[in-house]
Amino acid sequence: MFDLTSLVRPNIRAMKPYSSARDEFQGEAHVMLDANENSLGSAGPERFNRYPDPLQRAVKTELAKLKGVAENQIFLGNGSDEAIDLLVRLVCIPDQDSIVILPPTYGMYEVAANLNDVRIERQPLTPDFQISPEAITQIVASDAKIVFLCSPNNPTGNLLHADAIEQVLRGFRGLVVVDEAYADFAAAPSWTTRLAEFPNLVVMQTFSKAWGLAGLRLGMAFASSEVISYLNKIKPPYNISEATQQHALAALQDAPRFEQMRQQLLIGRDWLAERLPGLSIVEEVFPSDANFLLTRFRPDATAVYDYLVGRGIIVRNRTTQPGCVGTLRLTVGSPTENKELLQALQEFKEA
Ligand code: PMP
Repeated sequence: MFDLTSLVRPNIRAMKPYSSARDEFQGEAHVMLDANENSLGSAGPERFNRYPDPLQRAVKTELAKLKGVAENQIFLGNGSDEAIDLLVRLVCIPDQDSIVILPPTYGMYEVAANLNDVRIERQPLTPDFQISPEAITQIVASDAKIVFLCSPNNPTGNLLHADAIEQVLRGFRGLVVVDEAYADFAAAPSWTTRLAEFPNLVVMQTFSKAWGLAGLRLGMAFASSEVISYLNKIKPPYNISEATQQHALAALQDAPRFEQMRQQLLIGRDWLAERLPGLSIVEEVFPSDANFLLTRFRPDATAVYDYLVGRGIIVRNRTTQPGCVGTLRLTVGSPTENKELLQALQEFKEA
């Protein structure tokens, strides 16, 4: 059975979180001399002289409506990378505990584990990048504290089968993190719709992809209010800047632009997926529910990679990732970038 209290590290259970004077103050202040800010104003064109809302309430009010979750089920991080790190630190005792990852997958789970002296159990995906029945058995039997399931998976682009995720959610005693960084490009409902069923489920999403705000650094984690209040307890108090909060609010008011970019990227994905297989150097284009296409090149993907670099085009070489021999990960770009990429690949064929 899942028991959050015993999963959380004892030192975190016992610790008193940082608290500002404003957290404790009840009422309306007009003289604010509690936080050693600069009351005169700010250098630069915008006024950012006050510390931001540590709980980002305005952003969460809008997000809660958009995602159909309660405000106290949302954690905001400095990118979802911050949420990954905080989740590891919340439940994994350094030098003692472990997490499970399913390679090939997103690299930051491993980095966060290494940074925190946490062991890694690897349960490789099958050749078609799914969770095998054996892996499910191993995960369920494991006493690891977190399993990271990336769906759609980076770098492979596919969704993990929902029934396999569900089996992990039902059997695993630790937190099941479903990383949905690419969910906006996927033909499947988000796991946020299942939060009420699974107290051990944490869903991560980000503003870095379909929202087009990678430079802003804003990631989301959705979970039970209990998990979220632990994350709030251990996060740096002002982890989301005022500039980020204001911009995120403006972006959330601009749903038509989000939708238009999302559609255009899906069209770009289809455009590339139709044309790449026609090139003699392309062996396989893997199906994608994300904004990139994992593509296997022959005879030498690294030669293709180097050739593209020479033409000022950068893609991601994934040839050394387990199960990804000969592959490059191609992000879907603007129509012009997609054309330029395709043209360069055609010319490599002729070279
Ligand atoms: N998860 C996955 C699967 C990703 O691919 C990425 C970014 N490449 C992230 C999380 C991190 O996103 P963010 O920019 O929100 O830190």
